[in-house]
Amino acid sequence: MAESVRRWRSSAMVATTIAVLLLLLWASLGYGLWRSRTDALSYAAGNTQRLTQLLESHAARMFDGASLLLIAAENWGRIHPDADLRTDPEFHVFAGTLVRQAGAVRSLTVVDRNAIGHVVAGARLGEVASLGDRDYVRVWSAPRPHAAYVGTSQRSRVDGEWVLPVSLAIGESTTPLWIVVVELPLVAINQLYRSTLVARSDAASLMRTDGTLLTREPFAEANIGRTLASGRIFARYLPDAPRGVFDEVVVIDGRRRLVGYSQVGATDLLVVFSQETEVALAEWWRSLTLYIGAFAAVTVMIIVLGYFVVRLIRRDEASARAQREALLAAEAGSRAKSTFLATISHELRTPLNSILGFSSLLADQAHGPLGAAQYQGYAKDIQRSGAYLLDLIEDMLDAVRLEAGALKLTPEPVDLSAEIDSSLATVRPDSDRRRIMLRNESSPGMPALEIDRRALRRILLNLLGNAVKFTDAGGTITVSATLDAGLVALAVTDTGIGIAPEKIALLGRPFVQVDDSLTRRHAGSGLGLAICKGLAEVMGGTLHIASQVGKGTTVTARLPAHVARSSQAPVRPAA
Ligand code: ADP
Repeated sequence: MAESVRRWRSSAMVATTIAVLLLLLWASLGYGLWRSRTDALSYAAGNTQRLTQLLESHAARMFDGASLLLIAAENWGRIHPDADLRTDPEFHVFAGTLVRQAGAVRSLTVVDRNAIGHVVAGARLGEVASLGDRDYVRVWSAPRPHAAYVGTSQRSRVDGEWVLPVSLAIGESTTPLWIVVVELPLVAINQLYRSTLVARSDAASLMRTDGTLLTREPFAEANIGRTLASGRIFARYLPDAPRGVFDEVVVIDGRRRLVGYSQVGATDLLVVFSQETEVALAEWWRSLTLYIGAFAAVTVMIIVLGYFVVRLIRRDEASARAQREALLAAEAGSRAKSTFLATISHELRTPLNSILGFSSLLADQAHGPLGAAQYQGYAKDIQRSGAYLLDLIEDMLDAVRLEAGALKLTPEPVDLSAEIDSSLATVRPDSDRRRIMLRNESSPGMPALEIDRRALRRILLNLLGNAVKFTDAGGTITVSATLDAGLVALAVTDTGIGIAPEKIALLGRPFVQVDDSLTRRHAGSGLGLAICKGLAEVMGGTLHIASQVGKGTTVTARLPAHVARSSQAPVRPAA
């Protein structure tokens, strides 16, 4: 249960990390794109502004040119108050010169009180039909400032060309003597406007501040004279500022445009340059697609990576869990084995003690002689076998204790040389029987050492037991003990059968024997060396085996040993 919660938690953590990472990634992309969009728009706005300025200065020059021409004609009229401008040849020459010099002006027309036009300079001279319906004529019948008036673009009554008329009344403003009109050809204006357009959706317009469209490039007849007073420029922006740039849906084509407008000086003219916002952002859209594509790819990569990380974590956890379970199972198995061995050993020891006790009574004929002499021999055999079994049980218990880490040490002052003598005495009956010589070569005068006596005896007896067991008649067993730098080296050397080098490394583990065949010559459980090694290690020391096949074996236990404080009076070993 806890396992699945942990696994779920790791996966959730990875998922959350990835989600946060992706969120940051996309947030930064969003911010970057928003910034670059703003930059693109402000760059386009700057362009729009510059082009609007260009149009403005062109319109100003055009208007000034026309005004100057009209004022010159007016001045001529003032100087010649009685002259009939319609017919005066001198004025005609003067007007002709003016029109030629002006360049952008197509013709000069004089309109009389009956609104009849007379073209006095330009391509086609002569009378034109009544111009009373034209705004640039009618405008002078009401009081207005004395300044050139830019009329609505229209087709010329002379030749049908599109023209922009500019008029000025000479004489009283409400009852003018003459109205002088110059016509500017729209073709020329539109040609210039066309040169400012970059994209197909760009547009340049000339307007009057009352909202009348005078011309627009791209040119469309239907647009000329349209009033766009309801548009945003007139309804909102122009009242606030004479020039500016804004981004809105425009009236003329219903599209969102980046519009630059500028009033031409103090005149009623207004120039407008606009480009479609989407077109201005085209480059940005391209980069947007690219970036989104790249980020999507990175996102997919991160998600795939995350997926594999989660899988890896799960697999790791599964194997860790399996390991844990295996360990638990092994521990449980080992505990069960230890408990089983401890119980069995205990159960065996109790009847064994009776067997030993009673067989000893029989062997000693404690309550009188046995019927036949052989019985005494049998009783001794029973006793020997019982003792062997008891030893084995002791070994098993020790092995179990060592494995469970339950062996407790109680160091006490021990006279090592005496202890060796005592152990030699224990194995002597066996060694004598097999004519093996025993020697104690411990350094003389060794002080008493603080050491666990029982553990020391178990080591000595086990090593000596092996030495006797694996040494043939006539051999020698030597026990030596030397003290050096806080370590006592306890070595049991025999001249026995020896151990093959490749087997040495295996020894010291429970139940391992060099000859593990059922037909082996020597009895034994394979526990002795394991116990010696375990005990030496528990005491903080080591066990080392050196051997040569056919020559003999030396097993050395190196144990940490502190000199006992009362070493002058060494304690005698227990018998
Ligand atoms: P066992 O009860 O079989 O003697 P040990 O753990 O004491 O168990 O020894 C394991 C094996 O190591 C023995 O069976 C024997 O093959 C080998 N061995 C131990 N001591 C000696 C020795 N002194 N000389 C030769 N072989 C030995």
